[in-house]
Amino acid sequence: MNSCTQEVDSVTVELGRDGETVKARARYVVGCDGGRSATRGMMGVSFDGTTSSTRWLVVDVANDPLGIPTARLAPTPNARTLRSRSHTAIRRFEFMIHADESDEQAEDPEFLTQMLARMVPHPDRVDVIRRRIYTHHSRIAGAFRSGRLLLAGDAAHLMPVWQGQGYNSGIRDAANLGWKLAAVVSGRPATGCWTPTTRSGASMPGR
Ligand SMILES: Cc1cc2nc3c(=O)[nH]c(=O)nc-3n(C[C@H](O)[C@H](O)[C@H](O)COP(=O)(O)OP(=O)(O)OC[C@H]3O[C@@H](n4cnc5c(N)ncnc54)[C@H](O)[C@@H]3O)c2cc1C
Repeated sequence: MNSCTQEVDSVTVELGRDGETVKARARYVVGCDGGRSATRGMMGVSFDGTTSSTRWLVVDVANDPLGIPTARLAPTPNARTLRSRSHTAIRRFEFMIHADESDEQAEDPEFLTQMLARMVPHPDRVDVIRRRIYTHHSRIAGAFRSGRLLLAGDAAHLMPVWQGQGYNSGIRDAANLGWKLAAVVSGRPATGCWTPTTRSGASMPGR
């Protein structure tokens, strides 16, 4: 979304890139455009909280070599903190990247092999399906709604990956907003049934 203009009964958004744009008009617009949400910026809403200075290498492997179901947090020999957990056969490792290690170093496959070698007998046999350098954010939008613009998912809230709830929270937002918006645009609800997760607690504007 490049821009949006709110009118009394609708929102007009401009979509597209590289000079090819289209305009769309809707009763409401939900910005679910991630932690750097342009929608949130257009709403003029703050993103309060903190961002940790510590970077982590987050690695998911498909063939869990440990078979331990629970999470654990363990200091490794050189005081590098490590966490691993497994919900299914997928195992997640999180290796803290030291301040004197660059992102480029941490992205080097050899770095990952060294880290895994502390945890598994055969790091070369581990099937890595995702690895990403990540910094933990604890942030929440100052408001989830401004007029006919709403926020959902990471655009509205970010939490440390450790809690494993970012995506889950986005799903909850979608489930929560879905029926409420459907009710509002179809003219069914009484104002009192609107129990929003909006931080302002205000009801939706008129249909
Ligand atoms: C390493 C890592 C591990 C994680 N592990 C877990 C976990 O175990 N469990 C869990 O629940 N969550 C986890 N999360 C969090 C989870 O990935 C996010 O919370 C979730 O993806 C957020 O979904 P979203 O749709 O709100 O935002 P996003 O996934 O960021 O999607 C936003 C989309 O909007 C698009 N977009 C952005 N700007 C524009 C624009 N201007 N116009 C059009 N499109 C735009 C982007 O391209 C993107 O496709 C993890 C995150 C990371 C980084």
